[in-house]
Order: sequence, then structure tokens, then C-alpha cells
Amino acid sequence: MKKYLFITALIAGVAVFMSFNEGVKKEMGKAIEPKNMDTKVLPGDNFFEYVNGGWIKAHPVPPEYSQYGAFTILYEENQKKLRSLIEKVSAEENAPKGSVAQKIRDFYNSGMDTVTIEKMGIKPIQKELNKIEKLKTKEDVVRYMATMQRHGMAPVFHFFADADQRNSSMEIANLYQGGLGLPDVDYYLNQDEGSQKLREAYVEHLTKMFMLKGDDKALATKEAAMVMDFETKLAKVSFTRVEQRDPVRNYNKMSLAALKDTVPGYDWDLFFKSLGLENPGDINVAQVSYFKGVGNLMADTDMDTWKAYLTWNLLDASANYLSKDFVEQNFDFYGKTLSGQPKMQPRWKRVLGVVSGGLGEALGQLYVEEYFPASSKERMVKLVNNLRTAFGQRIEKLDWMTDATKQKALEKLSAITVKIGYPDKWKDYSKLEIVPGSYFDNILAVRAFGFNRKLNKIGKPVDKAEWGMTPQTVNAYYNPSNNEIVFPAAILQPPFFNPEADDAVNYGAIGVVIGHEMTHGFDDQGRQYDKVGNLNDWWTEADAKAFKEKTDKLVALYDHYTVLDSLHVNGKLTLGENIADLGGLNISYQAYQNSLNGKTPAPIDGFTADQRFYMGYAQVWRQSIRPKALAQRLKTDVHSPGEARVNVPPFNIDAFIKAFDINKENKLYIPEENRAYIW
Ligand SMILES: [Zn+2]
Repeated sequence: MKKYLFITALIAGVAVFMSFNEGVKKEMGKAIEPKNMDTKVLPGDNFFEYVNGGWIKAHPVPPEYSQYGAFTILYEENQKKLRSLIEKVSAEENAPKGSVAQKIRDFYNSGMDTVTIEKMGIKPIQKELNKIEKLKTKEDVVRYMATMQRHGMAPVFHFFADADQRNSSMEIANLYQGGLGLPDVDYYLNQDEGSQKLREAYVEHLTKMFMLKGDDKALATKEAAMVMDFETKLAKVSFTRVEQRDPVRNYNKMSLAALKDTVPGYDWDLFFKSLGLENPGDINVAQVSYFKGVGNLMADTDMDTWKAYLTWNLLDASANYLSKDFVEQNFDFYGKTLSGQPKMQPRWKRVLGVVSGGLGEALGQLYVEEYFPASSKERMVKLVNNLRTAFGQRIEKLDWMTDATKQKALEKLSAITVKIGYPDKWKDYSKLEIVPGSYFDNILAVRAFGFNRKLNKIGKPVDKAEWGMTPQTVNAYYNPSNNEIVFPAAILQPPFFNPEADDAVNYGAIGVVIGHEMTHGFDDQGRQYDKVGNLNDWWTEADAKAFKEKTDKLVALYDHYTVLDSLHVNGKLTLGENIADLGGLNISYQAYQNSLNGKTPAPIDGFTADQRFYMGYAQVWRQSIRPKALAQRLKTDVHSPGEARVNVPPFNIDAFIKAFDINKENKLYIPEENRAYIW
């Protein structure tokens, strides 16, 4: 699983771009803008508020968002840029059939053609609904589940291609738990009042979706209850999110014959044959106990329940591309009820997000041509090298690690591959056919294209040049099985990377982002992978034990961090990200010190360079967030909320404590013995 800088794998969430030299500077003014601060708050009592309080007051969450911050602003700016690119392409009426311009134009226009979409109503999925209605046997169910996978849906479980975690140069088939309509297992099983209310709201949503499909209320109510009951059974055999973070536990490579032995209740021959993959080769069954549970459910579940569940999966995966009644009902639950977002984004933004997801690198290519200057790439290459050197120096000086393990760590560090801006080789969309007219047909075409791509990968070498994110995405990631860090063009903008800012601020922002991604290679998950990306333990037992003791301290610090009155951050769920934040801060600070060569820069606006380094970091995470969205993120996101990302890690660091004169009277003060020193 790749590690992202912020929010876990945004669902179809793709953003866009903008130039380095315009737009943001107007918005940003100075690199550290005093009016964005709240100087009535002491840095040691709430550093997040101290740096960002003024900004937060001036930026309540807009109605069409569940949260709003530095990432969202770049996303917004990028959407405008992307729209203008699409409009330019759309004006090319004579774009030859099969060209990228034709595909972008027709996909976007089909999504904006609400007259046709309304006229079609439920028609685009009627044929599939009829097929589900006609299912008679469990074999029919398995066959249809494969059909849905081919259409980009994932009833009960996910199927995909990924690097073999112990032989990372080869792609293998993967089976991974899934199939839940609520965001997490906890939502089904927790007995608190809030969870119960959400379950009631979910059942109501299911009922309404079945009614929109044309069922009467009595039948729809029955179907909703069946779906809820079935998903609850899936939830009971699912791994929690914390359990999913253990790469060894989630690696269970086996042959098809072994899978059939392990999970005899499911007709795997039929499933793979129906996928078009008669010989899948080795398969990683991520959560064996989950699939055993699924095998049992095959026998114990009646046909009416299967039909209701598959129908719901089809409705859920299609709703956003059908007529308004479906779109609105879908938003009513997933947007309003779950995230507290009052308003949907305007249609053009939603369609643009879909096009940018489906034709991501085609649009990305247009984007970087227009908005990504070569100079940005050069500056980043230099910065990354500085960070790598600094990280190496810190590893050499660690007092808790033996020389043998240090040597391996340094080898791994120097083997990290760096990707900046955009891929060297663009994805080929020539086999994807986009037609004018039917939005839903285009969605299906994109999904089938994606499915065939992954099917073709299985059993072949990993294409190490491939990117897991489009250039227009405001994010970054570390991929442990490639031992690579990746920075899409869109994140190389203020407030992350600001060519106008002083070095202290840039090292605090993009420098920490780079250090964060590098540290992922050495967090509690990443450290289990070797320099070529194989899950392969290279630590001595004593070093592993010392590491665990240190990270346990970090778990405790976050477990005790409270947001929203009584809700805690989950220290175990967010551990990898928290190690990366702390490491990123330490490494980037060291790189900044190296760059100064012993000089002390003059203060700017009354703030010392050290202060500005940490303020540059803090403002990256400024964010207003709706309580419901925050509650959901605390359960589902491996990243801590922005506030905790700012208010915990620096308080473990001597340079910060000194820079802001933090003492034990301060609310966020951490006693020496509880501080985490890791990387
Ligand atoms: Zn991360």
C-alpha cells in the first residue's frame, strides 16, 4: 500500500494545477503572513492556533466542502486551470476520432449534458439490474461478482494487481477485504449512540436508493435490512484498520490450489475464469480469515439477500453518473450525513474530477506543458539531495541503533528512487474509446480500460517507471515496494514550495514534505522492506526492540491528543504518518542547518529563522474542518488531523522548544522522558 502525504487515497479525488508565479502569491502575500496568526495564543499552548488562528477565523469551511485548508485551496486553483485546459481542448471541434483531445472533450461534455442524463434516468443500468434479478444459483452470484469487477466495482472484496511484497519486481493478483457501504468496520459494530444513529441513517439511505430503483416501500425496507445484515457479517470478519497496517500479516501468497483448499466455500475457478484469468498464478490473499468468512457466507446467505446486496453495489457505484434524484440521494447520505457538508460541488467540478481521474495522465500532460516550469524540477532535485544527505548524517549519529543496522539503513536511503513533477513515459490511452453522448457508457469504458490494464499486469514484471498519482494531484507519496518517493507537479507550489519565500520557510514546508516521504521508508511499516522493496527484515533484534520502544512513546502521545472535546487520535492507526512527520521535521531542519554553513540569518518580521522554519511547517497544515468530517477521519484516516500534526511532533524537538521558549507551564509541553526521538 502506498503512503500518501495527506488523506488516504482520495476516492476518485483528483485535483489540478497552477503556475508558480501567479495566483497563490496574491492569496498568500508574505511567506508568513502575520494576519494569519493568532498572537493572543502562546505557541506552547496551541502552536496550530498561534500560527493559523487568524487564517482559520477568516476561512470557515465553504458549503461545498467538508474541510478547507492549504490542500483545498490549491485543489480549487487547479480546478480552474484544468477547466480552462479542458475548454481549450473542447473548442477543437475537429479533433480526430481517437485523439486525446477528442477523448477529453467528449468525456467532459457527456458529463455536462444533463438534458440527456435526466432523460435517461435509471436506463443506463437497467440491463445490469435485470441480470441481477435473473440470478438463480450461487454459481450465478460468483459469475456476476466477476462481471462487476470487470466493470470497476468491488462487491465483497477487491481484486487488483500489485507488486509481490516479497519479490517486488513482479506483479501478482491480490484479493483484499472490502464490500462495506459505511466507511469502516467500527460503524457497524460500535454500540455508542452516534454509531447507532448513523446505522439508522444508512438503512434509510439504502431504502431510498431501492425505491429510486423502482421498488415499493415495503420491498425496499426489506432489501435494506438484508443488505445491512449482510454487511454487518462482513464487518465482523474484517480486519480493523490497525490490523491492515501490518504488512506481514497481510501477506499470504498462495497458489490457486491452495486458495481453493483454504477457502473451499467460494468457487474460485469460476471466479477467475469469469474474470478472464484462467491461470492467475500466485495470489496474495491479504486477509485469510476474512476470505474464510466470505466462504462461509456463500453457503449461509439466501439468494434474495445476494440479489439485494449486488443491486445495492450497482446502485451505489452508479449513482453519481445517473439522473439528479440518484446523485442527490447519494450526496444526502455520504456528503451531508457522514461528512456534514451542506452543499454539493457544482457539476463542472464533479465532472472535471471524474475526467481527471479517468484520463489522468492525458490531462496531466497538458497541465505540465502549461504550468510546470523546468526550473522547479531542478530546484527540487537539489533539495531532495540535501535532504538525503541530512538524513544520512542523522542515521550515522543515532544513539539507539547498532552499526550493522545503520549500514543497511544508509544503503536503503541511498537506493531511494525520486520522481518529480510528471512521469517520463506517459500512459497510453489509445485502447480507451470515449464516445459523445452517453456519460455512463464512458464511465464503463474507463473502468473496463482500468480493469484490463491491471489484468494485463498480472504475472509480468513491475513497470517501475509508472506513477501512482497524476501530476495534477496536490499530494505526494512513498511506495515501499519500489522504495521510491514521488512528488507530483501540483504540490510544488506555495505554501509547500514558494520560490519567493526565505529558505527557512521552504525547508519547513516542502523540505519537511520530502523528509516525511523519505522517513516512510523507515517507519513501522516501511522499515520492514529492504532497499529493493522486498518485505525482508534487515534489522537486528535489539534494534527492532529499541525502535518499538521509541515508537510506543509516539503512540501514547497521539492517543492522548484530544480533538472535538472527547475524541482521541488513534495512535496506532496513525503511527506511520506520525513517525514520518517527526522524521521529516528533524531531517529537514538538519538540511537547513547544513545549508546555512554556520551563518545565522537575520530575523524577518521579528521572527528568527528557526521560528520561521516551524511556522512554515505549521501553515501547510492550516485547516478548517467540519466536526462530522473530523470524526470520520479519526476513524478512517491513517493521517492525524492537521491540528495534531502541528501540535505534537515539534514538541519532541529541542530546536523547536528552544526557538519558542517552550516550558512546563505550556499546555503542549511534553516532559523529557515522554518525548520521542526516532529519526
Ligand atoms: Zn505520509
